[in-house]
Amino acid sequence: MPYQRGNRLPAERASKIGHLEVIQSPLVKKLCESFNNPDIVQIPDGITWQVLPKDGNPLNIIFSADGSIQTIEDNKPPFKAISFIKAALLKMDQHALGKLDKENPHPFTIRDIMKESALFHATSFPLRHVVIPDKTIYHAVREILFESVKDIGFNNSLDGAMMETLKWIAFEKWNDEPKKEIEKFGCPHCDMDRSGKSHATLPFNQESGNCPNCSNEIFITDMFGLHQNMAEDFAPNQVAFDYMSVAETLLIFTPVRYFWENRREVLKNTLLIKDGPLSLRATLAKLSAPIRRFFSYAKEKDFNIHMFGQEKSGVFFEHLQLIGESAPDNSFFYPNNTYIRNEIQHSNSGGIYGLDTNYGAKIFIKINDYNKFILNIPTGLRGEGVENPTIEKLIGFSDMVATLPKLLSNRFEGALVPIELVNGIASLSTYPSAKVLDLFSKSVSD
Ligand SMILES: [Zn+2]
Repeated sequence: MPYQRGNRLPAERASKIGHLEVIQSPLVKKLCESFNNPDIVQIPDGITWQVLPKDGNPLNIIFSADGSIQTIEDNKPPFKAISFIKAALLKMDQHALGKLDKENPHPFTIRDIMKESALFHATSFPLRHVVIPDKTIYHAVREILFESVKDIGFNNSLDGAMMETLKWIAFEKWNDEPKKEIEKFGCPHCDMDRSGKSHATLPFNQESGNCPNCSNEIFITDMFGLHQNMAEDFAPNQVAFDYMSVAETLLIFTPVRYFWENRREVLKNTLLIKDGPLSLRATLAKLSAPIRRFFSYAKEKDFNIHMFGQEKSGVFFEHLQLIGESAPDNSFFYPNNTYIRNEIQHSNSGGIYGLDTNYGAKIFIKINDYNKFILNIPTGLRGEGVENPTIEKLIGFSDMVATLPKLLSNRFEGALVPIELVNGIASLSTYPSAKVLDLFSKSVSD
């Protein structure tokens, strides 16, 4: 997702004449005056800006991951729809970062970085009114999900790495005692009424097998539960969005898995950055739980995993624009549950925010007026410490804070170079262009 260009009002389109009567109304006049009065903007109570830690050591190796999506929908009957998804992983080190001009990065320098250290993954899903011989959309999408995570055949670059990472997370293979079978999930065959009975599971390290209840074939990727939102010949656009967030997650955890298994000490000097929140919605949260357990397991072993997600849109991002202006430089704010519910979400819900879905706490950070961020930082705790937020809960915080100044981009406000570069690789709006995808989707389905 690209960085926002600033909040400019849209151009006026309708005729101004019809507005005259409204504007002349005394009540509307009074209201409009109060809209324009900056004194009315109130900063909520309950914010404690704390000084950013200064005792961290900068991390030298940086991975970043991002995904993008382009859904091509035919605007005439039968309204065919195909989604294209791309996700990318980029590796940089401080040396490469140091060579880059932060204001006007030289295209050749960027090209070299990308050529040597970028991986990407691409796939597509038929969502509606696309014919796949002998298959319903429901089962076609399930198979594509499985084959896409395996990613062999199309893209040798990944060579099955995402599937290895999925198994590493799902079976908790980091642990000396991994899971003997995967946590039970809804079977795509015998749980079609979504009664909530979860029969399906797979034995250790298996990617596919048979449902213990109905014996039909199931895939490890069925654990995401995306089939629960699909009908026989219909998949909503959300399915493609959900796949993208799974792909981004698996990509950013691939170096974690690799170094944990092969050269664990490298992780002590590595920063992992994901574009967007560290959160997996709805049924995808089946992955958030083992991820949280990994962070907490590694921390217990005295092994801090340094990861953050940067949020660039949504209610937390908007709230940052509201409270960030008056915050002191070099400070951070870790909101508690009451603050999140009352001041950010304006919700009456009494539950713990993000209890099952999130694997990172939302932290507001201000370095200076141009560099303000919403970062999601893992705590390894269910609920991410929002009941009683303290700095000690944020895993690897001081080392990540020490690294941030080296990552700042001068091209956009609140931008980080590794995310900016990985955005460029993952972007589908520039390459291949939407027009090419449009033509491609026509040629495969007409
Ligand atoms: Zn079954």
